Amino acid sequence: MLAGLPAGHLKAMPDVEQLYLPLRTKRFMFSEICVKDRQQVAKGDVLAKDLINYAVPLLASHAGTVRLEKADGHIVLENVDWSSDAIAHAEDAPPHIAREMGAAGIKRYKLLALGAWEYFHDAYTGALPDPLGIPQAIIVCTLSLEPFAARGDAQLHGRLLDFTRGLEHLQSLLEYQPIYLIMPDIRSDLASQVREHLRGYAWIKLVEIPLKYPYDNFNILARWLGLKKNSAPIWGIRTEGALAVEKALTSMLPCTRRTVSVGGPAVNYPSHIEVATGYPLKTILDTFASESSVRVINGGIFTGDIVQADLLGLDSECRGLTILPELKEREFLGFMRPGWDRHSYRASFLSSARTEFKERLTTAVRGEKRPCISCGYCEDICPAGIMPYLLHKYLYADLIDEVDKARLDLCIECGLCSYVCPSKIELRNEFITAKQLITKEKEEIRQAE
Ligand code: SF4
Ligand code: SF4
Repeated sequence: MLAGLPAGHLKAMPDVEQLYLPLRTKRFMFSEICVKDRQQVAKGDVLAKDLINYAVPLLASHAGTVRLEKADGHIVLENVDWSSDAIAHAEDAPPHIAREMGAAGIKRYKLLALGAWEYFHDAYTGALPDPLGIPQAIIVCTLSLEPFAARGDAQLHGRLLDFTRGLEHLQSLLEYQPIYLIMPDIRSDLASQVREHLRGYAWIKLVEIPLKYPYDNFNILARWLGLKKNSAPIWGIRTEGALAVEKALTSMLPCTRRTVSVGGPAVNYPSHIEVATGYPLKTILDTFASESSVRVINGGIFTGDIVQADLLGLDSECRGLTILPELKEREFLGFMRPGWDRHSYRASFLSSARTEFKERLTTAVRGEKRPCISCGYCEDICPAGIMPYLLHKYLYADLIDEVDKARLDLCIECGLCSYVCPSKIELRNEFITAKQLITKEKEEIRQAE
């Protein structure tokens, strides 16, 4: 058991005077600034765009005054007016989109302009899909199995009708392509309610999966459903994405609020909060952190990134914050200690003789950094069936061709190898960087040819 798993209820957060909207998120870089310093903006106004990703916009999450120089890497909104209901008018779709794609094209454009398109992923690459592309299928996953990431049931609670309207809108974007709705293979009240609710929707294919990480990964789901990588793209969205689609296409409102989890062993009241993009991280930490020295992770325990000190507000892709106690000193011979309150991937700690217990999850779990000891745990656990330790060794020796031959492309970036590694090698991060390098090199060769 992990201490600090976020409860399903929503906790209200206080209004703040300033919002700090990061210009960089996991997938986006909002480099094209569309506002001036001290400009007054309404909720939903476009502050910046990511021109590499189909001009996906960074929207003002509330009315306020723009400050461009106040915090590096952020657009700050000052004098935030929480009472203002004024909403910016989303740009109309360019005439050629309406001409060539009709109503579905206009809807897709609205999803982009109102901030709902950010919730879409290409199932195989994780990248933002082309909003005007034609997918072979859409996978809608109601599950979020990574520990501490925002849970689908918490987001769905009381919003089942909105969710089904979101699915209807998704279907209206398609011609005949299927929508796969991924559900847990359990009979909880909420799951039964969803099944009952969707019984009449013949165009939705219900797919049940075990409650086990990383079955909710779009890449795994696409392979499991037999959807081929090389034909048309497969779109993947989660519960919050379907709700965003509903908000953008039914109410025509900008999607500037997110339900995120705040969990982890160093949290007072593990919960979910609904906050605007740019909400100050300091206010969240002051409210939730139970210790003064913590490490904050943007996302869940396996795939989240460490929040650096210069990040001031919640970014527009955040799915949760995981807060761990930071151990300042090394544990002497930490890797050999028998461990009554933590377990190892192999049953080699005393804890394996215990019944259920709460794991002492800190930033030093399973020892400290050292070279690979060839234990093979990473290979055992990898759901993609590749050999992470071998890839690591090839990367260390700069043998990029060998890395490519060892099928790095199959890695789904789940982070399980990094988690079980007793040497705390950041395998997942190494592989993400290497994949980007290989893609770039291949593109350069293609262009040269
Ligand atoms: S992140 Fe690690 S465990 Fe996960 S698929 Fe990639 S190599 Fe395998
Ligand atoms: S789990 Fe870590 S130490 Fe063990 S083989 Fe893999 S990379 Fe090496």
